[in-house]
Amino acid sequence: MAGVPMDQREGWIWFDGQMVPWGDAKIHVLTHGLHYASCVFEGQRAYGGEVFKLREHTNRLIQSGQTLDFTIPYSADEIDEACRQVLAKNNLVDAYMRPVAWRGSEELSVPGRNNKVHLAIASWVWPSYFSVEEKLKGIRLEWSKWKRPSPETIPCTAKAAGLYMICTLSKDAAMANGFADALMLDYRGYVAEATGANVFFVKGDEIHTPTPDCFLNGITRQTAIGLAKENGYKVIERHIKPEELSKFDECFLTGTAAELTPVSQVSEFTFKPAKACTTLINAYTEAVTPKKVAAE
Ligand code: PMP
Repeated sequence: MAGVPMDQREGWIWFDGQMVPWGDAKIHVLTHGLHYASCVFEGQRAYGGEVFKLREHTNRLIQSGQTLDFTIPYSADEIDEACRQVLAKNNLVDAYMRPVAWRGSEELSVPGRNNKVHLAIASWVWPSYFSVEEKLKGIRLEWSKWKRPSPETIPCTAKAAGLYMICTLSKDAAMANGFADALMLDYRGYVAEATGANVFFVKGDEIHTPTPDCFLNGITRQTAIGLAKENGYKVIERHIKPEELSKFDECFLTGTAAELTPVSQVSEFTFKPAKACTTLINAYTEAVTPKKVAAE
């Protein structure tokens, strides 16, 4: 359904406990979440009919809400079950899924505590964030002019809509300049992350990745670290300065949407996707594929 506007697709969306036809999943223009970004969401993928690391995503969604001072009015079990129902109702097997929670339209000014919290879950087929061609060659990134802010400035552990303002600005600017994505530094000038994915650098059998102390510690990032260790790599989480990029041979991004995507360039620095990228892409593909218990 590529190219069909997001509000005009076919299917069912789980909306505050009900399965509603896609086009009916609407909110009012005077919604707190829209005006004041009191909104958190998840991005998760189903492979072979099962959402990979569903409970981790659900827990992060609930936690993101708590960080924004609201409680999603469903338990983790109920949210997991709703996610499964969305897949089943839409006959989806390999799909992207977007749970989103927001404050409603009871009142519209800065305070939010009198606004009801809503939850919706939609899912659709979204093959790869980057095209396969882009992926194999490695994607090209440019430095963003925006910096990931200090944890004292924003609730940086939440996957919250408001934190994506600078991501959209960075990604749109990068794409307008012919790049696939942007790499952001943090408020101290250390390498942070891409606009919707974490970043890793490879030198020999060492894999270096920025310490997630002011940006999302992605679920895919944590998976990739585990897989890298299982495959004999030494993983080093530390602060990385941009000028250090010249020392690394390979670079890749991790994220639910991006999966594991090799990078060939970050502005003035170049990389060649090689053994580490191939090994970890294969390991990731294996990890996300549900293990079917053989029938006795
Ligand atoms: N950073 C940002 C800004 C993101 O949007 C994402 C995607 N959720 C990630 C990192 C990676 O997170 P995950 O691996 O949990 O999808």
